[in-house]
Amino acid sequence: MPANFKAELVACLGQPVAENPTGAMQEAAFRAMGLNWRYLTIEVAPENLADAILGARAFGMRGLNLTIPHKVAVIPLLDEIAPDAAVIGAVNTVRCDGRRLIGENTDGKGFLRGVRVDARVDPRDKRAIVLGAGGAARAIVTELALAGVSDLLVINRSIERAWRMTEEIAIKTKHHIRCQPWRGAYRVPADTDILVNATSIGLYPDVDAMPPVDLSDAQPGLLVCDAVFNPPETRLLAAARERGLPVLDGLSMLVYQGVIGYQLWTGQDPPEDIMKKALRQALGLA
Ligand code: NDP
Repeated sequence: MPANFKAELVACLGQPVAENPTGAMQEAAFRAMGLNWRYLTIEVAPENLADAILGARAFGMRGLNLTIPHKVAVIPLLDEIAPDAAVIGAVNTVRCDGRRLIGENTDGKGFLRGVRVDARVDPRDKRAIVLGAGGAARAIVTELALAGVSDLLVINRSIERAWRMTEEIAIKTKHHIRCQPWRGAYRVPADTDILVNATSIGLYPDVDAMPPVDLSDAQPGLLVCDAVFNPPETRLLAAARERGLPVLDGLSMLVYQGVIGYQLWTGQDPPEDIMKKALRQALGLA
């Protein structure tokens, strides 16, 4: 067989991007699967995004991740947007269909996969509460609505933001979504099945911060999830564990959004354990 020195390329575009650990887990998966693929982590300023996408096309790149601040700005630069990414209004992954670039959003799907696989909970017909109305919350709320939860409540400090988000997603998913303002410690109702912190409260370096929630009425099966992955053991999850409640950390969502991206780019199933291990190592947790 003739030698092949040409690697297939995928990249993460963002600014700042240097601390994004996704490349470590994707490269570990490529190596384990014997693929001559590279994952590049590239700093791209907002004014250069259009050129960067042209560059990706010119290089025949096999896929992209987009992170802050490009998840919305990339949309008009692509050829097609997947239906759930269109509902979310943001793209974190681009896959190629021939020469066409298709925008996907794997954040909410990654979260749901963690709920199903790691926490072993089927969200269908469950009552869910999401704290937050930013980008992560949009993805999680959309996928929870599409997964058929029976009740979906969004709680956010800025009620206008929550109201706009829930109305938009409710119309597009045809799912009723309630919202209410966050005032003081929110007492999680006893009939709640899934609670998700999709705010940035507790994110490094503010690791002692705890979303103001009161878990005293929680039923023993309440699954408490956190989108924050740095640190993975947030104050919220520690408080839930103290009560004996099942928990799901933000690493799960991060790994599975990467697993889904890998599948979209390569058409293969990646070694999930290797990706998890590489991510923990990259974050200094292993
Ligand atoms: P955004 O900036 O878009 O949204 C932040 C949200 O947090 C808003 O709802 C904001 O409320 C709320 N918030 C922030 N500070 C406070 C506070 N002190 N009190 C009450 N509410 C507050 O951020 P993202 O949605 O992009 O990210 C949220 C978190 O999710 C981050 O920690 C991020 O790291 C994590 N994330 C994890 C991923 C994973 O794979 N695990 C993927 C993507 C994100 P308001 O609207 O009132 O300002």
